[in-house]
Amino acid sequence: MELENLTIEKIHKGLMKKEFSAKELVKFYLDKIKKEKDLNDFLTITDKLALKQAEKIDDKISRREKVEKLEGIPIALKDNILVQEYKATAGSKILENYIAPYDATVVKKLKQAGAIIIGKTNLDEFAMGSSTENSAFGVVKNPIDKDRVSGGSSGGSAAAVAAGHSVVALGSDTGGSIRQPASFCGVVGFKPSYGMVSRYGLIAMASSLDQIGPFAKNVEDIKIVFNTIKGQDDFDSTTIDSELKNNHSDFENLKIGIPKEYFGEGIDKDVKEGIEKAINKFRNLGFEIKEISLPYTEYALAVYYIIAPAEISANLSRYDGIKYGFSAKQKSLLDNYLKTRAKGFGDEVRRRVMLGTYVLSAGYRDAYYNKAQKVRAMIVNDFKKVFSSQDCVDFVLTPTTPTTAFKIGEKKDPLAMYLSDIYTVPASLAGLPAISMPCGEVGKLPIGLQIIGPQFKDNSVLEIAQAFENMEQSS
Ligand code: GLN
Repeated sequence: MELENLTIEKIHKGLMKKEFSAKELVKFYLDKIKKEKDLNDFLTITDKLALKQAEKIDDKISRREKVEKLEGIPIALKDNILVQEYKATAGSKILENYIAPYDATVVKKLKQAGAIIIGKTNLDEFAMGSSTENSAFGVVKNPIDKDRVSGGSSGGSAAAVAAGHSVVALGSDTGGSIRQPASFCGVVGFKPSYGMVSRYGLIAMASSLDQIGPFAKNVEDIKIVFNTIKGQDDFDSTTIDSELKNNHSDFENLKIGIPKEYFGEGIDKDVKEGIEKAINKFRNLGFEIKEISLPYTEYALAVYYIIAPAEISANLSRYDGIKYGFSAKQKSLLDNYLKTRAKGFGDEVRRRVMLGTYVLSAGYRDAYYNKAQKVRAMIVNDFKKVFSSQDCVDFVLTPTTPTTAFKIGEKKDPLAMYLSDIYTVPASLAGLPAISMPCGEVGKLPIGLQIIGPQFKDNSVLEIAQAFENMEQSS
């Protein structure tokens, strides 16, 4: 049986019918990763762990025990998610040799479900970036066009799924880091509502925004992984147990909002056309399409680049060259702090720590940080209004990114890089579930359609995404 490009369902059937063993499957993926190393999507291959896990599944199958869907399925994890006894670098020199002392909650859950962890994927340093060019370990090439970036910060996970180096993957999304690379690599990427998935064991970037989520080739696989990793966790007090079931089997009375602010200046003409075609398909499915306005969208990036750096500066203060990670080993304490952080952190991380420290400093806190929090509340309110009283839409459709994947080295100016998150940041600030779906191409470069739903209506977002996917496949 051809092992390439299989989805969870097909692998499950193949394993059950003994067309291949879990070990053969894992070896196939590990070989492919090694052969196509030039993509630079993996930082660590967890082959020992993977083969051990595969043997266990094979034993279970030979004993004819019940085998669940995720058992034997290779999964890649972004290298800011802790897997006990393996390196977790977060794409940074400062954690180059850091070995995780425990499993993240999502990893614990995946292991229990029998998923096979095959490796840790490359990312922008501490998840700050939109292209993986900020990784201390080199850029991840886009499998569709190797001169282009795979997006970021979870570029390694997106590329791994797109290249067939893993069946599914996990990334983290703070301002778009799952959706944007999914869009650039032509795969599905889902950022759950804030609080749906435990962040315990995720190396923190900006804690009020960070959220773990899956990448896959189709929505069914996203659902399987999401249902495995979600849920309340005593180790993360922001998590909730959500059983918000919304089965939209009938699309007739559903309304989709198209926010005009997402189609203005800066969007590539071909991307806009691609999204408009997708909107028409929703119309054909029976949805009512309505133009809406999210007026505070224009402030979203500015707000994000105050709040995120503020939280980053606090979270990254733990890398002091004393407790763990790289140390410049200087005699004086102050020298040690300064040299460790100067040598251990890359440019973008240092830039954000400085920005964050500035906006939190005594004289500027009110003018920047507190003001940004107020505007964040208005962005939250924008969405609340369209989902309830004002327009009563069920979902919001937007492009995931203003352009397709850009060339490696193309965006030298950090502000130009920040602009690639312009459509993903608002849902992050509002904590809403949002998915990026492949929807056509420009040349051979994929376009991403973003579907945003009301808070905790993650299941509804996934169902609509699946309906769209079915439509795409049949057309
Ligand atoms: N690209 C955005 C940033 O650099 C988002 C990153 C993310 O979601 N982790 O902050």
